[in-house]
Amino acid sequence: MRSHAAVLHRPGEPLRVETIEVAPPAVGEALVEIVASGLCHTDTTTFDGDNPSCRYPAVLGHEGAGRVVEVGPEVAALRPGDHVIPLYGPECGTCGMCRSGRTNLCWTIKATRDRGVMPDGTSRFRLGGETVYHFMGTSTFSRYTVVPEIALARIRPDAPLESVCLLGCGVTTGVGAALDDVREGDTAVVFGLGGIGTNVVQGARIAGAKRIIGVDTVAAKRPLAERFGMTDFVDASAVEDVVDAVRDLSGGGADVAFECTGIVPVMRQAVDSCTVGWGTCVLLGVEPTGSELSFPPVRARYGRTIKGSYFGGVKGRSGIGRFVDLYVEGVLDIDSQITHRAPLTDINAGFDRMARGEGVRTVVTLG
Ligand SMILES: [Zn+2]
Ligand SMILES: [Zn+2]
Repeated sequence: MRSHAAVLHRPGEPLRVETIEVAPPAVGEALVEIVASGLCHTDTTTFDGDNPSCRYPAVLGHEGAGRVVEVGPEVAALRPGDHVIPLYGPECGTCGMCRSGRTNLCWTIKATRDRGVMPDGTSRFRLGGETVYHFMGTSTFSRYTVVPEIALARIRPDAPLESVCLLGCGVTTGVGAALDDVREGDTAVVFGLGGIGTNVVQGARIAGAKRIIGVDTVAAKRPLAERFGMTDFVDASAVEDVVDAVRDLSGGGADVAFECTGIVPVMRQAVDSCTVGWGTCVLLGVEPTGSELSFPPVRARYGRTIKGSYFGGVKGRSGIGRFVDLYVEGVLDIDSQITHRAPLTDINAGFDRMARGEGVRTVVTLG
């Protein structure tokens, strides 16, 4: 099948929108027609060759939503017409991680996913006789893509795909993390009010936090965060000591701190901002490769928990429906963060806007 797709041929080049060939789904796979896909910061880690899991040329994109067109042999639970969100973190349901009940990670197909191929070791994409590789197992910047069944979450058909596509990454990561660790009446602090942090803010609001402190160096991020539930803003570029500012606002320390920047010294500020006794620090930001975080062990010994969260702790196939429901019920706000919509052909302009820090989220429409 022919499909328009945004292909990154090699680091340092812009994406090129081209017509690729998409092979039919193999055993355990489905062919999906993507309706819309968000542009996410993680896609840009491939632009300079910094992402070791990207094999070039690649069809990027990992924040999409669409409809199943065709299923391969041995696909058990999906049918043509089903609405789905592709998952970069699958849920096989049978591996040790899935059965543990202790993690949302499932690494059954991680080895092939991180080499840009399907579980059988081959790609479904070709361009002019040359192999083009998958990215994050999803490749949602193609009108037609192939995804393993265990990496497709079926969702209710009345949810608009052009909005719930953002549940494929940033919204679920932020809201899920907050729902896991914020309790009613808590004071939460969120370091970094970008795509993840703003969604931590609304997750904390949904969880019943009484006070939500946002910390950022860019005051322009304040209005959306306030709309999502932020009660106090700390301008990190203006205060002398961010940790002191958070401690003052929270009466000694936050119940939960979320780190969404990936900047290691900010992670340390998040650890130090937690209250003694029970404060929980949740690390969400992705650090530069090789970084290390240090803090005095007494921080943990006196009852603080320092933990991380991947995809909001949400098991994709069984857990994402809850977030779709929250959106359809009007509790979860996705649309206010979509500041730009564009056809796939304008995708480079969207990434340029992201690099300049303009707008919040861009969603491209396929088709
Ligand atoms: Zn992402
Ligand atoms: Zn599994």
